[in-house]
Amino acid sequence: MKIICIGRNYAEHAKEMNSPLPSSPIFFMKPETSLLRTRDFFYPKFTNDLHYECEIVLKIDKVGKNIQEKFANTYYSSFTLGIDFTARDLQKNCKEKGLPWEIAKSFDQSAPLSKKWFPIKGIQENIDFDLKLNGEIVQEGSSKDMLFSFDQIISYVSKYLTLKKGDLIFTGTPSGVGEVQIGDHLKASLMGKEVLNFNIR
Ligand code: ZN
Repeated sequence: MKIICIGRNYAEHAKEMNSPLPSSPIFFMKPETSLLRTRDFFYPKFTNDLHYECEIVLKIDKVGKNIQEKFANTYYSSFTLGIDFTARDLQKNCKEKGLPWEIAKSFDQSAPLSKKWFPIKGIQENIDFDLKLNGEIVQEGSSKDMLFSFDQIISYVSKYLTLKKGDLIFTGTPSGVGEVQIGDHLKASLMGKEVLNFNIR
């Protein structure tokens, strides 16, 4: 199983990062060991600037390669929310030196994922979600603001990688990313339903 994450998929987030808008999806990966297996998240020792990024996550249902955009919707049937934790200080250093991002993005537990999945079938409206830090909303997102749709992402990524059943796609974060500290509490809601709720320890 692999986790594919899309960068800069919301214009307002690209702006807050002082990054140009991409002309095609940008992706990077996290390993299976990035999934949060414990109840709470433990702040890693190697960073002093850990950021949350709340994102809609798709689960791939079947193997596919070179998937045409018009058929992409047959490759996933459920979605939920996850957090793409990012060691922003390490990422900044990588960006400045033109190095890969893995130490900033792919570490253990960097991908908390909800266990509650929602069927995508029948959803016509925008998918709205939000993240609360210590009870205050810090991120509000809607799938309508994505630069690249779920189907465009799947089509693009599958040009390069074979997608397999069980793979996860983090589809990018809206604006409002920020730091967490030990003692903080994160709660994420998808279409009004709470799906993630954990502490930073
Ligand atoms: Zn992200």
